[in-house]
Amino acid sequence: MAVALDAILARIKDVCKRNGLLILSVLSVTIGCLLGFFLRTRRLSQQFSWTYFPGAMYFVFSFHSLMSGLAALDAKTSSRLGIITVTYYLWTTFVAVIVGIIMVSIIHPGGAAQKESTEEGGKPIMSSADALLDLIRNMFPANLVEATFKQYRTKSIPIVKANKASSESTTHRIIIYGVQDENGSNVQNFALDITPPPEVIYKSEPGTSDGMNVLGIVIFSATMGIMLGRMGNSGVPLVSFCQCLNESVMKIVAVAKNPIVFIRGILQALLIALATSSSSATLPITFKCLLENNHVDRRIARFVLPVGATINMDGTALYEAVAAIFIAQVNNYELDFGQIITISITATAASIGAAGIPQAGLVTMVIVLTSVGLPTDDITLIIAVDWALDRFRTMINVLGDALAAGIMAHICRKEFIKDGDEVPLICETK
Ligand code: ASP
Repeated sequence: MAVALDAILARIKDVCKRNGLLILSVLSVTIGCLLGFFLRTRRLSQQFSWTYFPGAMYFVFSFHSLMSGLAALDAKTSSRLGIITVTYYLWTTFVAVIVGIIMVSIIHPGGAAQKESTEEGGKPIMSSADALLDLIRNMFPANLVEATFKQYRTKSIPIVKANKASSESTTHRIIIYGVQDENGSNVQNFALDITPPPEVIYKSEPGTSDGMNVLGIVIFSATMGIMLGRMGNSGVPLVSFCQCLNESVMKIVAVAKNPIVFIRGILQALLIALATSSSSATLPITFKCLLENNHVDRRIARFVLPVGATINMDGTALYEAVAAIFIAQVNNYELDFGQIITISITATAASIGAAGIPQAGLVTMVIVLTSVGLPTDDITLIIAVDWALDRFRTMINVLGDALAAGIMAHICRKEFIKDGDEVPLICETK
């Protein structure tokens, strides 16, 4: 019994020793959450502001890694690696923006918060019959290209803007006032006719909205596959083309090795990002995680990470595009294709311009909103929740930088390994 207990204690000690920093990070985040909750509920705002101090100091001291990273490489190497890295960063940021735009168009979060309500008498305009009809219409898209960008969605259309007073069926509200003399008897009566406010009546009509018709694409592809199978020899060229495409995608996926193992290695950095809302402040921990857990080449990490913490902000870019479209949806403002492209480009640029510090993305979002004429005042709709959103987008920013360092190390491996050099591969397990 005592031997078994000793073995368990020894095991716990070993795990703590190996994951000391990770355990401390989790503990700090938990204590931070509890402390914040306690101070807020007790309304100790003065004491609450003191909690920023350690984070601010940590942030100031983390700048050394940014400078040393850029100084570590010779000019030729850094220019080559720099071009590949910056191209990769721009590309991934743009992809993040596109993902955000597709998701916000499908989910349509601004619809629920629209300033002008589309509900009548508390009843939803779109009935379950409409939803079922949309489902059936989506199953049979007009063509595959359209299904990639559009889906069928019943729309509420205002058809009558009438004043109830002009309608015969309307009952007017009449209020009678009485004027009394000093004995309390009525000497005069007034009748006041209250005219009801103007009324907007909505009707639902089949329509389309931006967003991928996933159901249509799946049904189309399945039907096509069955038909190709039945066509025999004449279907072979297209079948081989699809197989070839499938295999190449599988090969691409295999090159990014095991993402779960990679992400586990940088978990500590992600927690620090969550706690500090700053990718620059997280930089030393990201660096340490990549080196010690994921065995990324030190020279590449020292170059790629500081540059990434400055210009590669996938989470911020995605957030800025989504927030701009959310504000458009809230204002019932239909964005055309050109404006969506403008949002994609300005969100990418604004994220590059944002510093790796808390809530920097909220400031640069003004660029995105003004580029398509959306009201900048509506940023206030987001400010209240931005402290939480910021933490998660910072995690994405840090994840993006770490993945970039891993991919760059993989791509540039041959460049940097000289004969006899021992450089471990990414995600290599000991
Ligand atoms: N807090 C983010 C970061 O440091 C920047 C932002 O506000 O989007 O990465």
